Amino acid sequence: MPFAVRNLEAGRAVFSDPTHNIALEWSGAGDIDGNDIQQVPDELAQNVNFLRAVQKGIFAVEEADEAIRAALDKQTTSWRRKSDEAKEASAAVIDPEARNDLVQMECVGPSQRAGVNCGTAVLVREKVIGEKPPLCERHKKLVNEYVMTQTDKIVDGKAETKWVRAVQGAREFQQV
Ligand SMILES: [Zn+2]
Repeated sequence: MPFAVRNLEAGRAVFSDPTHNIALEWSGAGDIDGNDIQQVPDELAQNVNFLRAVQKGIFAVEEADEAIRAALDKQTTSWRRKSDEAKEASAAVIDPEARNDLVQMECVGPSQRAGVNCGTAVLVREKVIGEKPPLCERHKKLVNEYVMTQTDKIVDGKAETKWVRAVQGAREFQQV
């Protein structure tokens, strides 16, 4: 049993499905002759491209018997779910990239003055902050001497962390 589909777009709409020998044409929404509504064959309720057009609000199903409505709802729901899953999957792929930005930090290596860091600007990938201490070219060989410790300061509800040199000898201070 065919069902009625309304074109919601202002312009003429055409839909064809050559495998089922379907070629339909609607006049723009609000057509005075009522040609913005067409009776369409049942097969269209299974047609993904047609369902997408319904989903996008290009077409609205005006009249359909229970069986067709159920089929449409089922198809539309499953298509929407697949589309959401696809979106989530792509978000999961994009996410690690999002933390790939280079962030400028100051080298935590020692300087000539005790208690003062080298401070040379170093670029660190956002995703490795907290995994690796920021160290300049000159100090990067000290990477294994640094440990992440929490300070007494609270930033954004979390204890602030900083890199502290665990192995620290006065002699080495002068060498570096
Ligand atoms: Zn440095």
